[in-house]
Amino acid sequence: MSKFRRIVLPKTPEILIPVDSAEAITEPSADSFGAIVDPSRLTEAAPAPSDLDAALAALAPAAPVPAANYPKLTSQFLLAGKALFTVTNPRGDHFTFKVRKVTSDWPKGSGIMTTSYFVSVKSPGGMYPYRYIGLLNSETGGVKCTGKSEFIPGTTEYNVAAWACGTVIKTKNLPDGYNIEHAGACGRCGKTLTDPESIELGIGPECRKVMGI
Ligand SMILES: [Zn+2]
Repeated sequence: MSKFRRIVLPKTPEILIPVDSAEAITEPSADSFGAIVDPSRLTEAAPAPSDLDAALAALAPAAPVPAANYPKLTSQFLLAGKALFTVTNPRGDHFTFKVRKVTSDWPKGSGIMTTSYFVSVKSPGGMYPYRYIGLLNSETGGVKCTGKSEFIPGTTEYNVAAWACGTVIKTKNLPDGYNIEHAGACGRCGKTLTDPESIELGIGPECRKVMGI
């Protein structure tokens, strides 16, 4: 017959989870259009957790991850030549941008053909319906201002354009309530889109054939 001895197990230690700071970093603010740039800045500015914090966080149950919300538009659309797209925020503010592809002999007379992507924004007050913002880098999605730029970094037009281009080129997740959609015209030739497949892609049937999509 077995004998039993009573032992007392130590209590499970209390675990502190830094809930407030985590929420402050991931929740995008809907205050202004400029705020859509803020979450990344907050992430960069947040202090690095100590080793103890990291260890405690690892023990904590994982927070539910919201479903990914990638832009429907692709870099193929954005760089197709005559891409027209609209960016909206949860408050209903919206901007319409154009990315125009120009291949030309640059510097002039050099015989070197250079492709540039000009980003402009639909905005009243200029000579034309679209006002120039800058040059789009087709690899990074960054927008570089030049001497003729009418909007510089820090203006809402520039910030939203650079954020939207970077989001599409790098296929980044969109915060809740934000949308980047084509404006109903083929990204390559500018004709109005009619059939569902074209509307989804933002590129018409003829142009899809040419582009091999
Ligand atoms: Zn087309």
